Amino acid sequence: MLDAVVVGAGPNGLTAAVELARRGFSVALFEARDTVGGGARTEELTLPGFRHDPCAAAHPLGINSPAFRALPLERYGLRWLQPELPMAHPFADGTAAVLSRSVAETAASFGPRDAGPYRRLVEPFLPRWDTLARDFMSLPLTALPRDPVTLARFGLAGLPPSTWLTRRFHDERAKTLFAGLVAHVMAPLSGLATGAIGLVFALAAHARGWPVAEGGSQSISDALAGYLKDLGGTIHTDYEVKRLDDLPPARAYVFDTSPTALARIAGFGRYYDNYRYGPGVFKIDYALDGPVPWTAPEARAAGTVQIGADSAEIGTALRAASREGRAPDRPFMITVQPGVVDPTRAPAGKHVFWAYGHVPAGWTGDLTDAMERQLERFAPGFRDRVLARATAGPPELAARNANYVGGDIASGAVSGLQTLLRPRLSLSPYRTPHPAVFICSSATPPGPGVHGMSGHNAAKAVWRKLRQTP
Ligand SMILES: Cc1cc2nc3c(=O)[nH]c(=O)nc-3n(C[C@H](O)[C@H](O)[C@H](O)COP(=O)(O)OP(=O)(O)OC[C@H]3O[C@@H](n4cnc5c(N)ncnc54)[C@H](O)[C@@H]3O)c2cc1C
Repeated sequence: MLDAVVVGAGPNGLTAAVELARRGFSVALFEARDTVGGGARTEELTLPGFRHDPCAAAHPLGINSPAFRALPLERYGLRWLQPELPMAHPFADGTAAVLSRSVAETAASFGPRDAGPYRRLVEPFLPRWDTLARDFMSLPLTALPRDPVTLARFGLAGLPPSTWLTRRFHDERAKTLFAGLVAHVMAPLSGLATGAIGLVFALAAHARGWPVAEGGSQSISDALAGYLKDLGGTIHTDYEVKRLDDLPPARAYVFDTSPTALARIAGFGRYYDNYRYGPGVFKIDYALDGPVPWTAPEARAAGTVQIGADSAEIGTALRAASREGRAPDRPFMITVQPGVVDPTRAPAGKHVFWAYGHVPAGWTGDLTDAMERQLERFAPGFRDRVLARATAGPPELAARNANYVGGDIASGAVSGLQTLLRPRLSLSPYRTPHPAVFICSSATPPGPGVHGMSGHNAAKAVWRKLRQTP
């Protein structure tokens, strides 16, 4: 009898398995795909020698994760590489607002009227960032807040919609960059707690940057898997779990899956029927003949580049995908260019380039042309650099990873109460109707991203139970 079986080797499943194994529990992990990684993987999707991240590529949440920071992942080959600028947001006039490690540089890029309001927004939180990150990523109630006063202040600033928070800015530059930050989790800009989402990405940049992982995001997963094996855990790939009976006897089962899949596998009937999935994305991985020819010099130095002419255009694109059921004409795009700092991703002089835009759930069209028209606005001549492209819309994303239901890369809408309370309204969201079955995917708090904190929090619930029942 094993102590714990984990299903799904995404960052959360791997973290849950590691957390249990390092506390002396016997753990086996089962993964449907032939390699570990889930949303943190790297593959040669286009041409030989071009190493693409089909899913996550930029890691503000990974480098700031209290769970990852407590693990010896560097010893297992993980190396964070920091671009000169974490993020840039270019405008049609050839200039750009930036998210820099330095608050002063960031504030200056917003223009004189918004430099002060931006500093006043972020500076109170920065000295307490590590404690704050631990407190809000551990909620709800897996640990008591260490600094309740700062957490409450953060809640006051972040719980209202981001459109309230950005009222303090006078000009479009800061408003646009901030709207783009919120759009990283596909949340509507006017949604509950969307201010907090934007704030987290900004604070993360100032605290530790938005790095990429050397060699690709796979190295995060490989480091977790290597550590798990050294701790005595076993990993079984190519093993899709369809029923609980497919798994060996164990005292606890931890699912890094969607709530819907868990309900089907464990026979929970309609338990998660109220769980909602969000819009999908259309992803393109490019092999390029050289770097992206951005007009704005700042964009050439940034790891991540957001594309959206202004906050209204970003809001329109999000609404089209999430509420109006149509693909946006001018998609808001997040792009990552790992080659600015990691030469291992492509042959000498060449680059990989990563981009996605939002589309309705399950959308079957092709967004390539609309995305490339957007890119040409800010990087004229982009198309001439394209050697090859690999595209994936919602059906392909869902086929690659069952957690991305309808192409929703957040494994559940980040909107309304579900932003904070997922997968159900519960004080112990990692528990399920079965006392030995737990859920640890990004459908649980603190939500999407490669940070392993859902796995960490779920593991805590599991080891408490295992210690109570010898
Ligand atoms: C295109 C894209 C871009 C993204 N960009 C970023 C980014 O830049 N930065 C960032 O931090 N995050 C990003 N994300 C989000 C991030 O990848 C996810 O939030 C994160 O991977 C969630 O981790 P997880 O462990 O909960 O689930 P996943 O990583 O999805 O892993 C789940 C695993 O479970 C396996 N599985 C599912 N069902 C079964 C079953 N029945 N039996 C066995 N195995 C099963 C799957 O095969 C998968 O390996 C992106 C995601 C996508 C798709």
